Amino acid sequence: MNSWSEEQRRTLEELYRRLDARAVATAEGRDWWPCRKGCDHCCRHLADPLPITALEWEVLWEGFLRLPPEIQAEVRAHVEELRRSGARRPYTCPFLDREVGACRVYAHRPMACRSYGFAVSRGQGLWCHFLIEKLQEHGEGEIVWSNQDALEETLARLAGPPVTFFEWFAAHPE
Ligand code: SF4
Ligand code: SF4
Repeated sequence: MNSWSEEQRRTLEELYRRLDARAVATAEGRDWWPCRKGCDHCCRHLADPLPITALEWEVLWEGFLRLPPEIQAEVRAHVEELRRSGARRPYTCPFLDREVGACRVYAHRPMACRSYGFAVSRGQGLWCHFLIEKLQEHGEGEIVWSNQDALEETLARLAGPPVTFFEWFAAHPE
């Protein structure tokens, strides 16, 4: 199923590329930069079920479908467990490999995961306290390079309304 034009998909991928390039450039030369495989605090402390735009879900779903069947079953079971428990916050993302602290759909992850730690939203910082502590330790102050509200507005125009993983998985049963 693909209800999106190639242009919309290309635009989203370009946005992802820009965010990733910015993150890589920011970490470059800072061997103390804390975002890396194994640091999974952000993925273990999500607020309400992440609202992800519909086009982003299609991309994420492609990543999900590439996982081995037993891992897909594990992710589905975690989603179901969250649904039953009411996804009390903070909750752990069902796409996280909890043993190694790595995202199982890293290349397909949504914008919120790519900008987290650097973006600021009206009235609230969305940065990570590990990053802030490290920046202070190294006398660098704050690094904020994205306006989260603008990113979300761009996505809403480009990629449709947000969908939660409960709705998405319910619409795509095994
Ligand atoms: S945003 Fe924070 S918790 Fe997440 S990987 Fe980076 S340093 Fe770790
Ligand atoms: S999709 Fe991946 S990067 Fe995003 S919160 Fe889940 S595990 Fe973390």
